[in-house]
Amino acid sequence: MSSRPVRESVLTRPRSEIARRYDVVIVGSGYGGGVSASRLARAGKRVAVIEKGRELQPGQFPTRFPELRNEMRLSGHRINVGRADALFDVRLGDDMHVVVGCGVGGGSLINAGVALKPDPRVFADSVWPGELAQDGLIEEGYRRARAWLRPAAAPDAARMSKFQALDLAGTARGQRPEPAPVTIAFEAGTSASGTPLAACTRCGDCCGGCNVGAKVTVAATYLTDARRHGADIFAGIAVDHVRKGPDGWQVVAGATGDTGAPTTLIEAGMVILSAGTLGSTEILLRSRAAGLPVSERAGERFSANGDIIAFGWGAKPIVNAIGIGHPPRVETPVGAAVSGQIAYVDESDLARSVTVQEGVLPSAIAPALPLMFLPNGRLLGALQSLVSGVYNGPFRHLQTFFAVSHDSAAGRLGLEDGRLVLRWPGAKSEPVFERLNETLTGIVGAVGGSYVANPLAGPMIGDQPATAHPLGGAVMARSRDTGVVDHASRLFDPSRPGQAVHEGLYVIDGSIVPRSLGCNPLLTITALAERAMLHMERDLGLRFSPDPL
Ligand SMILES: Cc1cc2nc3c(=O)[nH]c(=O)nc-3n(C[C@H](O)[C@H](O)[C@H](O)COP(=O)(O)OP(=O)(O)OC[C@H]3O[C@@H](n4cnc5c(N)ncnc54)[C@H](O)[C@@H]3O)c2cc1C
Ligand code: SF4
Repeated sequence: MSSRPVRESVLTRPRSEIARRYDVVIVGSGYGGGVSASRLARAGKRVAVIEKGRELQPGQFPTRFPELRNEMRLSGHRINVGRADALFDVRLGDDMHVVVGCGVGGGSLINAGVALKPDPRVFADSVWPGELAQDGLIEEGYRRARAWLRPAAAPDAARMSKFQALDLAGTARGQRPEPAPVTIAFEAGTSASGTPLAACTRCGDCCGGCNVGAKVTVAATYLTDARRHGADIFAGIAVDHVRKGPDGWQVVAGATGDTGAPTTLIEAGMVILSAGTLGSTEILLRSRAAGLPVSERAGERFSANGDIIAFGWGAKPIVNAIGIGHPPRVETPVGAAVSGQIAYVDESDLARSVTVQEGVLPSAIAPALPLMFLPNGRLLGALQSLVSGVYNGPFRHLQTFFAVSHDSAAGRLGLEDGRLVLRWPGAKSEPVFERLNETLTGIVGAVGGSYVANPLAGPMIGDQPATAHPLGGAVMARSRDTGVVDHASRLFDPSRPGQAVHEGLYVIDGSIVPRSLGCNPLLTITALAERAMLHMERDLGLRFSPDPL
């Protein structure tokens, strides 16, 4: 870990202090949970946020490989290793692997912070409830999300060598990159909630967790705001299911990692599930198994957001796509995890649009890189780098890409032996992968390199695609026959006639997104959460100011 002194807990309270009853219990503390907690605490509600992971401060994120390994939980039907509250929650599936963040702040702790709005054609899809297009509140949601997360491009983005390598390739193929808007402070200051932010050092470690304190995470914005307005935030508690109680709702939970029956019962007038695509869907499926009426569509329309991470080996220019850490291991700054991107927009077919971003791998993974690339036959280069370190030799020319596009959202999450399992038999042959491979092969080839789709493919984890942008499972829809929540994020109640909803039970996070977005999802998840809060304000007669401090 970094030598910077850190305070253990800034936002959270000890688990022993949890009350028996709150006005609102919010499960999960990512974008959806953070927005909900801030708004409802501002409205004067007694709010508790329950998070499965730990609270980590800048300075406590992994900087060395053994620390990174300790922050990895790998689970699948053949494997189950790592602490239950590890920062990286990696689900190895038969058809697809998924990685999500776990901690106070959710995925914002380990994401690259790229904040983009989708192509307008995404919201024109009839899969969304009609109100979304009609009431115009999603636009206000984006405005508020931007005011709180303040995405901006690095002023020196185009000077980074990875940007320049993408520029070379892009120019050769007819389209130059643009700087990417990211939720990072490039100058020291304070966040929208008044949290001090350090200036980004361009260390590139964003996806391992920012030890500098420059990332504009949910913890540094919405959760700090919620805390300031009286919300109680608890870490290390995993919610099992939700059920109706004599006076509202009951949240059944236990200490994260406990294998026995859950022992904590918290009562609330309102419950908001914001445990992410995997977490909220799992809680809903378990709640249904325990008797709660939930739409038959729960678990369906899982999308990987057409997302992949891929590599280029042997590019002629120096790229510098490996984080240098904090304090830095070498002098040359590499830039934030993403500095530049090329959006290839297909005007006639949205599904064929592709956005390619140049990425950086966190420094803690550096020692493992030569080993990762060994099975692909680049033995000589890998051995050279084992000797000289990845900051010299061939790994300086390694290109990392994050690419996003569209898929068919045909995955399905279900419970098998009590465990959440993703089934998507046709995932590998989704046309998106061929499209991405084609685009990236062209980009890598234009600078003299060769494309490496998946260096980890092999007997251990197979050659399934992997995503860091899971969406769907509890999707927003026009009716309970096609989805799980209505346009205002209220859970449909299939035990009652028509499109009745459960009063006081909401889902607000990536699980409600009914299709691929074709761009990185954090801004849209935040905007949808802000929109849900606008509806809640109207429906329940609440009053809160949405303005930053
Ligand atoms: C490496 C990486 C890079 C990424 N880069 C980008 C990017 O650049 N731009 C972008 O837009 N997106 C990016 N993403 C994706 C983005 O971070 C997620 O889409 C986003 O965080 C999802 O927000 P959410 O509110 O749905 O839930 P999350 O942020 O996933 O938060 C859910 C929280 O709920 C908790 N939880 C789960 N189950 C339970 C339970 N049973 N009880 C209590 N708590 C529970 C989890 O621990 C987690 O903290 C990236 C993701 C990863 C992993
Ligand atoms: S590049 Fe480094 S300092 Fe800047 S946000 Fe990312 S991790 Fe933090």
